Amino acid sequence: MTPEQTELLRSLPAVGELLSHGEVAAWCEAHPRSLVVDALRGAIDETRAKVLANGSAMPSVDVAAVLEMARRRLTDASKPSLRRVINATGIVIHTGLGRAPLCAAAVAALAEAAGGYCNVELDLETGQRGKRTSHVRELICRMTGAEAATVVNNNAAATVLTLAALCADREVVVSRGQLVEIGGSFRMPDIMATAGCRLREVGTTNRTRIADFEGAVTESTAAFVRVHHSNFKIVGFTEEPTLEELAEAAHRRGLLAIDDLGSGAIFDHAALGLPAEPNAPASIAAGMDVVCFSGDKLLGGPQAGLIVGRADVISRIESHPLMRAFRVDKLVLLALEATLRLFVDMETATTGVPVLRMLTASMDELRDRAERLRDALATALPGEAFEVAEDETFTGGGALPGQALETVVVRWKPSGMGAGEAARRLRNSDPAVICRIGDEAITFDARSTVAENHEAILRCIVEITCDR
Ligand SMILES: *Cc1c(COP(=O)(O)O)cnc(C)c1O
Repeated sequence: MTPEQTELLRSLPAVGELLSHGEVAAWCEAHPRSLVVDALRGAIDETRAKVLANGSAMPSVDVAAVLEMARRRLTDASKPSLRRVINATGIVIHTGLGRAPLCAAAVAALAEAAGGYCNVELDLETGQRGKRTSHVRELICRMTGAEAATVVNNNAAATVLTLAALCADREVVVSRGQLVEIGGSFRMPDIMATAGCRLREVGTTNRTRIADFEGAVTESTAAFVRVHHSNFKIVGFTEEPTLEELAEAAHRRGLLAIDDLGSGAIFDHAALGLPAEPNAPASIAAGMDVVCFSGDKLLGGPQAGLIVGRADVISRIESHPLMRAFRVDKLVLLALEATLRLFVDMETATTGVPVLRMLTASMDELRDRAERLRDALATALPGEAFEVAEDETFTGGGALPGQALETVVVRWKPSGMGAGEAARRLRNSDPAVICRIGDEAITFDARSTVAENHEAILRCIVEITCDR
C-alpha cells in the first residue's frame, strides 16, 4: 500500500458520520433504518475497494459520491426482485415471463379475498370440512364434458400423480414419436420412472400404429398413453393412432387410456381462426379415461394442473398421498375459479381471457396498435427511425408447435447504439421492457402488448436514449 492509499483509507467516512447527513435522515423516513445502514456500509466498502485497486490515482474521497452510491444501493434493495415487465416479444405464453397474464376477474378475486381468510376447505352450508378442489370441480367438468375433475400445482405434477396413482409398478405403452422433453428436467421417460412405471416404447419416431400398442400388451400393462408433442412437430411420412382408436383398444383389454394434453385448449381452435390444436373436450369425447393439462397455457389462468376424466379414476388419483404434496394454494384456486367462469362460452372466454384475446387479435387490430406506438415514438424521438412491419411470432408454452402466428411489429434501429445494448437497457429500465432482436433492430410486437403499455415503452426508450 502506498502512503497516499493509507491516507485515503483513513479519510473514508464512517457509517455514523453519514447517518447525520440531512439527505440520509430523509432516507430513514422512507426506508427501514437497517436497509439504510446496509446501503451506507456497502457504499463505503465499495469505495475502500476502489482505493485499494487504484487509490494512488484518486485525489481524495468524495463523500457526495459515496452517498450517491449508497442511494443507488438503497433503491435497488427496495425494488422487488419479482416485478411486472412489459412483454414485447410477441410470445403470448412466455414461460420466462410467467406464462398467462391473469384476467381482470382473477385479479379482482385475489384483491378481494387473498388479504383475509377464505373458505378453502370449509363447506359454508354444512359447516363441515370441505374439499379444496370442490370450488372448481363443476366448472371444469362443464367446460370439458368430463364426469369428474381435480386440480394440482402444475401439469408436471398432474402427470406424475396420474401415473403414480394408476400405473405404479406396471407397464405404460407410449409411442416413440411422443417421448418429448418439455424443458428443464421434464422428460417423459424420466417422469415415467419417477412415477414408478415401466415405459414400454412402441412404433418409430415418425410412424406408430394402433397394432404397435396392441402388440406390446403383457400381463403387467396398465395403460396406453398419448403425450401431446408440445414443442416440436413431425412432418412428412407420419402416422399416429387417433384417440378414439387408442381408447377403444385400451378398453377392449381392460386398460386405461391416458392423455397428457399439455397446453390444454378448451375450444376447437379452428373455430377461433387459429391453427388446429388438440383440445380437452375432444379427448374426453374420444373416450380417454384421464386427461391432464396446464392451467396457465391456453386456459390463460394461474399455474395449475387440471386432471379430468372418469369419476372412479379421478377418485383413485385424489386418494394417492402425492395429491397432498401437489395440492394447490388458495391464491391459485381464487384465480382459477374466476378464470374458469369465463369459459361458459367461447365469446366470454375470447374477450375476457388475455391469452385468448391476444391469440385471436386480428391483423387490423395489431396494425392499428403498432401504428399508434410508432407515431408516439416518432413524435417523441424525431431523430430515431421507427417502422411498422408484418412479422411472425409463436404462441409459446408448448402450444401450436411450429405454427408461426402472423403479427405486426414496430422496428427500431437505434442510432449510435447497438440493438443488443438497447435491449439490455430496456430490460434494466423501469418497468423492464422485453423485446426481440433481429437484423440489428429492436422489435416491439403488438401481439403480446396492449395499448396501456405504450406510455411506459415510450418513457423507457426516451430515458435510455437520453443517457447514452
Ligand atoms: C407443458 C407440458 C407439461 C408440463 O406442464 P406444466 O404445467 O408446465 O408443469 C407436461 N406435458 C405436456 C405435454 C406439456 O405440454
